[in-house]
Amino acid sequence: MPLVTLRKVLSAAQDRQGLALGFVCQGWEDSRAYVKAGEAAGAPVILSAGPDARANMPVQLWGEMFRELARSASVPVVAHLDHGRTLEECEAAIDAGFSSVMIDGSTLPLAENIALTNAVSAAAGQYGVSVEAEIGQVGYQDGAASEGTTLEEAEAFAAQTHVDALAISVGNLHLQTKDHAQIDWQRLAEIETVTTMPLVLHGGSGILPADRLRLAREHRVRKLNVGTELRQCFGAEIREVLDADPALFDRTAILTRAEPALQRLAEALLNRAWNA
Ligand SMILES: [Zn+2]
Repeated sequence: MPLVTLRKVLSAAQDRQGLALGFVCQGWEDSRAYVKAGEAAGAPVILSAGPDARANMPVQLWGEMFRELARSASVPVVAHLDHGRTLEECEAAIDAGFSSVMIDGSTLPLAENIALTNAVSAAAGQYGVSVEAEIGQVGYQDGAASEGTTLEEAEAFAAQTHVDALAISVGNLHLQTKDHAQIDWQRLAEIETVTTMPLVLHGGSGILPADRLRLAREHRVRKLNVGTELRQCFGAEIREVLDADPALFDRTAILTRAEPALQRLAEALLNRAWNA
């Protein structure tokens, strides 16, 4: 089927009190595994191309690849630009056929973040492309610190922008491998009193399974980005495939043999997020 928008998937997530998963993609084999996992779980799949992915492969190719995967998929697929930093980056993704773009103005002063977000919404709106924005900053386990989303920011953003999804910072952290995020449930509940937008948490791998369910059941978090735990799985599996067959050298053979393990984990994550 053709690509669908993020707005449509998040609305379906809302109806079932579930969580849609934004899969961080790095290439063909992992992207294909996520779509197969979605088909096995009967869940929509959000394929995300982040800054690292785009530094490695041009955004036009990501758009083509995601569209091709969607065409042959039996479940809805979203092609999502993750962490677009400028209007131009978002426009390039829209030109490349993405059905959803994230504009991350979270490091800018609030007024500039709002202005940039509105410029992207205007550009995306002409083509029916969804927009995700971010307020507060989601830091990195071994990098930039987080800045929690404040109630004032959420209120101003709700009044002055119209986006389809809003990423917030409430204890979640990117690239978390050491321990688990301490979600600030109080802050999350307060934010929900001032905005009706579907909420997004990045750094999903650091969030405990029970907390993921609670985010969906008791709150309005509708999208969780997951990357780290899947990349760890794929990396470990590739290592095993190579260890098991020292004569193996063919890239396609290596990745294809490692793919089923990645697909199984993605399917399990979808079952716990979308079908729980
Ligand atoms: Zn992120």
